[in-house]
Amino acid sequence: MSVIDLRSDTVTQPSAGMLDAMASAPTGDDVYGEDPTVNRLEAELAGRLGFAAALFVPTGTMSNLLGLMAHCERGDEYIVGQQAHTYKYEGGGAAVLGSIQPQPLEVQADGSLDLAHVAAAIKPDDFHFARTRLLALENTMQGKVLPLDYLAQARRFTQEHGLALHLDGARLYNAAIKLNVDARQITQYFDSVSVCLSKGLGAPIGSVLCGSAELIGKARRLRKMVGGGMRQAGILAAAGLYALEHQVQRLADDHANAQRLAEGLRAAGYEVEPVQTNMVYVQMGERAEAIKAFADERGVKLSAAPRLRMVTHMDVSGAQIDQVIATFVDFSRH
Ligand SMILES: *Cc1c(COP(=O)(O)O)cnc(C)c1O
Repeated sequence: MSVIDLRSDTVTQPSAGMLDAMASAPTGDDVYGEDPTVNRLEAELAGRLGFAAALFVPTGTMSNLLGLMAHCERGDEYIVGQQAHTYKYEGGGAAVLGSIQPQPLEVQADGSLDLAHVAAAIKPDDFHFARTRLLALENTMQGKVLPLDYLAQARRFTQEHGLALHLDGARLYNAAIKLNVDARQITQYFDSVSVCLSKGLGAPIGSVLCGSAELIGKARRLRKMVGGGMRQAGILAAAGLYALEHQVQRLADDHANAQRLAEGLRAAGYEVEPVQTNMVYVQMGERAEAIKAFADERGVKLSAAPRLRMVTHMDVSGAQIDQVIATFVDFSRH
């Protein structure tokens, strides 16, 4: 029985084509700047997203950390969603390692931060306060796509207030595919963008931070400091290049599968939140542990959470989605 793992889009295995690309990648020592495949990936993504420079790093957590630390000095502050990955799910790295104070704000129903709330949170220039330096947004945010006109407003807003604007674009390409726009339509509003290659794009490892040459120069120094300077990393960068070339458009299949899952579960009487991209949230309440155990016995891997998140990805087919729906139907009857 093949296992259907819906816990995250990070669980994908590298495809045969990706493994071939990795095996034949030319490599060099990337700390010396001599890995041609890493250099190609950095140039490729910077070009695609409209930035002067880019930096390949092992994880999205490191990419966000380096971005925040490159923008902010010790005693600066960044404004961020209370539910944002950079604030909630990265071990408090910006504060711990960067001495950057987070100012979290409640995320709105559409995944955005209310700019009036952001304005109210900006500290006056006064030695009592941390210096507010940066606004960090996330797109997609729990599967939701931030509207382009909101991003334009956020750009104008941060310019007016002298703030930098960072995007945690772990799932940037899910947002671009959903909006049916070039990813640059999204990234044009930001001073820096972090993109994960290891989520829906299906690479085993890797994220890329994009920004100005100056910002990325600073981030490169910080990457060495936090132990992220890798050597023949071209083997990994080749997977990222392969993903950009071959596994972006197919994200639409994941979105279709997520819709199919949501509709099937609703038809079976479950309370399912509206789906935009590859994430399906179902209210399981006190049945969270029970459905996890029930599904596990039937080859479906789930998280256990009252608000259960299921994530579609390239290793889950449409037929397997029907199997998952059948599992939930059986669960509601057992
Ligand atoms: C996964 C993720 C990251 C970083 O992930 P790593 O596991 O460190 O690669 C950052 N932001 C968001 C929104 C994510 O989903």
